Amino acid sequence: MSEPEKTVLVTGGAGYVGSHCVAALLERGYRVVVFDDLSQGHAQAVPPEAELVRGTLLDREAVADVMSKGRFDAVLHFAARSLVGESMADPWLYFRENVASAVNLVEAAAKTGVRKVVVSSTANLFGTPERQPIDEETAIDPGSPYGESKYMMERMLVWADRCAGVKSACLRYFNAAGAHPDGRIGEDHTPETHLIPLVLDAAAGRRSHIEIYGDDYPTPDGTCVRDYVHVSDLADAHIRVLEMLETRSVRYNLGNGQGYSVRQVIEAAERVTGRPIPVKVGPRRAGDPAVLVASSEQIRKELGWTPKFPDLDNIIATAWAWRQANPEGYRGKVAAAAE
Ligand code: UDP
Repeated sequence: MSEPEKTVLVTGGAGYVGSHCVAALLERGYRVVVFDDLSQGHAQAVPPEAELVRGTLLDREAVADVMSKGRFDAVLHFAARSLVGESMADPWLYFRENVASAVNLVEAAAKTGVRKVVVSSTANLFGTPERQPIDEETAIDPGSPYGESKYMMERMLVWADRCAGVKSACLRYFNAAGAHPDGRIGEDHTPETHLIPLVLDAAAGRRSHIEIYGDDYPTPDGTCVRDYVHVSDLADAHIRVLEMLETRSVRYNLGNGQGYSVRQVIEAAERVTGRPIPVKVGPRRAGDPAVLVASSEQIRKELGWTPKFPDLDNIIATAWAWRQANPEGYRGKVAAAAE
């Protein structure tokens, strides 16, 4: 007899990482309900096979309502604010929204008998670590109110397990990058602050140049080094972890394990697009550590997870395919649908 279909609630499923996870869940036969306030996500990023419920996690009643009607086997929680700089300027926004949302969600999960919760956490938990690569034993010292809000969420989940038996997985992402290989969904933030989409906009002539935020860091070429992990590989990690989450709560760092400098990203984008990318060197951006590289050894060993897109050129090629097919991002998709 085949296994019964599993139903999963995905908060923030209309956002960048969330929508790629929804696609991967559907590809593996899950039934998916997306809960999203569409403040940052895009309805067009949710395929028709998934149900989209528009609502905010800050509304405790609404969350309890969705959860009690859904008979969910698990919750995947992506909905959150995620910009370090914004959180430094307005820490209260991050504590209010990221923490209160998680409280409402996990409380509703616990009270309706949902025993599996997988959440997006962040490399910002580790602030500016003394050694690289960053593994799960690295001291936690959040680099911003954003990182702290995610750490509060992680701590809350420890107690959700002890008090209510909710098993959780906290996945600490490094730099999510790329787009679904079929080009249907991709990265579209307003405003866009991330390196790869901005570099590709410069390649496409939609921006005059890319500004490098500082070239005097203690790295081989003076620019910051980051660990870019493909968004479909992140999605795969969520589903693997979801399927093992019966007996214990876990936390894993998720990256490629390979660092690339800002200049290396720009050079890779020039190779992939075949276009020159004008560069200007500007000042450092506040709060940027010189190097952030993950050790994903633990999830490799325990769940057999390995990135399918370890190569930076390949990652950028998927982002470029999405960008070329959707130069206006999801806005273009609305316009096309309205014509
Ligand atoms: N960066 C840059 N110019 C830009 C955007 C980003 O030099 O216009 C650098 C940034 O300082 C960091 C790296 O690119 O070292 C990745 O930044 P991003 O904002 O994509 O991700 P983060 O590391 O902040 O999560």
